[in-house]
Amino acid sequence: MKTAAGQDDWTIENSKQLYGLNRWGLDYFGIGADGFVSVTAPTANGQQTVSMKQVIAGLADHDLSMPVMLRIENLISDRVVKLNQGFRDAIEKSGYRGEYKAVFPIKVNQQNHVVDSISRAGYPFHHGFEAGSKPELMLALSMVPTQESLIVCNGYKDEEFIDLGFQARRLGYKCFFVIESLDELALIVRRAKKWNVDPLIGCRVKLTTKVDGHWAHDSGDRSLFGLTARETIAAVDVLRDADLLHCLQMMHFHLGSQLTNIRNVRDGIREACRYYIGLVEDGAPMGYLDFGGGLAVDYDGTFSTQPHSRNYDLNEYCVDVVESVMSSLDKHDVPHPMLVSESGRWTVAPTSVLLFNVLSVTNFEPTPIETEPDQEFCQPIKDLFDAMENLHVRRVQENFNDANYYRDRLRELFASGAIQLRERAFGENLYLSILNRIAFEILPQLNRVPSELTSLHDQLADIYYGNFSVFQSLPDAWAIEQIFPTMPLHRLDEEPTRPAIIADLTCDCDGKIDRFTDSEGNLSRTIKLHPFDESDPYYLGVFLVGAYQETLGDLHNLFGDTNVASISIDADGNVHFVEEVRGDCVSDVLSYVEYQPEELIQRFCDKTEAAVSAGTIGEVERQEMLKLYRASMLGYTYFED
Ligand SMILES: *Cc1c(COP(=O)(O)O)cnc(C)c1O
Repeated sequence: MKTAAGQDDWTIENSKQLYGLNRWGLDYFGIGADGFVSVTAPTANGQQTVSMKQVIAGLADHDLSMPVMLRIENLISDRVVKLNQGFRDAIEKSGYRGEYKAVFPIKVNQQNHVVDSISRAGYPFHHGFEAGSKPELMLALSMVPTQESLIVCNGYKDEEFIDLGFQARRLGYKCFFVIESLDELALIVRRAKKWNVDPLIGCRVKLTTKVDGHWAHDSGDRSLFGLTARETIAAVDVLRDADLLHCLQMMHFHLGSQLTNIRNVRDGIREACRYYIGLVEDGAPMGYLDFGGGLAVDYDGTFSTQPHSRNYDLNEYCVDVVESVMSSLDKHDVPHPMLVSESGRWTVAPTSVLLFNVLSVTNFEPTPIETEPDQEFCQPIKDLFDAMENLHVRRVQENFNDANYYRDRLRELFASGAIQLRERAFGENLYLSILNRIAFEILPQLNRVPSELTSLHDQLADIYYGNFSVFQSLPDAWAIEQIFPTMPLHRLDEEPTRPAIIADLTCDCDGKIDRFTDSEGNLSRTIKLHPFDESDPYYLGVFLVGAYQETLGDLHNLFGDTNVASISIDADGNVHFVEEVRGDCVSDVLSYVEYQPEELIQRFCDKTEAAVSAGTIGEVERQEMLKLYRASMLGYTYFED
């Protein structure tokens, strides 16, 4: 395909390089010969690859408009298998005398289809669930695959929460109460008498190990959760007094999510093992060591300790955990416990992709300047014109300074009323023309770009307006400046020539994506996209969005939940739409903010009747208006074709 210069040498390999697919795509995402993103997933008949072209066509056939949250069922199963297998391999290789069980922390993605897929894929491994609230526990109680699976209850628990957990025990399920406070423990002891069942108890300890990355404040002495050394010993005493010390079987800790540095993992494990040994020495039976979540995702593909990356992979994580536990416990002859992890982000992040279309593009190109400025025009305009005519490679910084100076003078004259709007517009266009020439004609000729000019390209980047809401679908991109891999879903055999940022539909200046990773893995404020032609749809995808994004999303500007499609790839490489969930319609989002759609319709109806009475509109027009209003109530909150 053609490059900007018209040469036939842009290939899909160039696109892979540019968008970093080889770095973050995890062998799941690639580019097909058709120039579309492809998805490769394990099936009963080995790896199968499908093109996003098929997926996009399928969405249209199912009448699912963009934006769509696409879930790939095979990838959910693959993650579950890989996680369990990773630990099994590490255990076997190192001679660890204990097993591993995973629990999926439901808060990371509570959606029915995701939890159900994990439950099904996790069956052979007795994959369990971690619940942090009553609704999550109730979900876990129904969805847990086998009696050997663990249900780990974290978070604060009231009597009802605790009673629900006891019902699981009465049914023979391994439901652990992880205690976070002594009050909670007292309540559990009391309810144990009432139900006459032994609870399974874990205690969450507060480690002093500090971790790198965004969640650093979750760790250390001031972390919100867990028992201190003093409280841990007090808990042991409470249980011993109640004759329930045999129930204390688990120790739990969680250093925070997205642990970027494997060293922190090892340090945490070593410190935790000291507590574990201490509890054993103090007479608790123990048997389970739950080291929480934190297994990180390499969002920027740099394999580093940058906040959106990590300096280890799954196998290294498993081996390091297993070996650290072993070496810590062996010194004290403590039997090897069942290892439990609560890896959420790692399990589901790659399994969802946000798909949306581009609606329009704004660019910062000047309109062609055909005439010299009018003799009547003000001096700054004449100066800008001269500056434009006299741009030179060796004086680029000076040219840039001059242009800014004259532009400021122009704006002052406008502000003081000395010139009119049309004159200012003429001058602004000259200024824009200078910046474009500096950025695209002069800077490429320089070996070293003056520091003030390095962001010039970003200032001139196009704005691509996407049919989605950052706040609804990518809340972490806004809240914690999370980087998600973003790229076009097609035209990847064509050179993308436009540096751009992506704006969403909300009227909020934070509603944008302007943090990307460039081909070298560095942060970039712009992404290269293809020229937009309104007559052809242009689709973009945001990848690795399966963890935390869906339920953290909110209704900013009343853009609701997007459509969701779950696909499965069969052994012959065909795509099946296994589940579709329609996104919110307008009446849904209005009821979330306490309106009654029928009442709104009635009020609007009254207004139209008043207009008919006043003779402003006729009865036919009134009917049309009402029809439109009613239909819109049931429409998608995003742009529809
Ligand atoms: C949030 C959370 C997790 C999940 O962490 P990930 O980094 O997503 O794996 C696990 N355990 C606890 C206690 C949590 O609060």
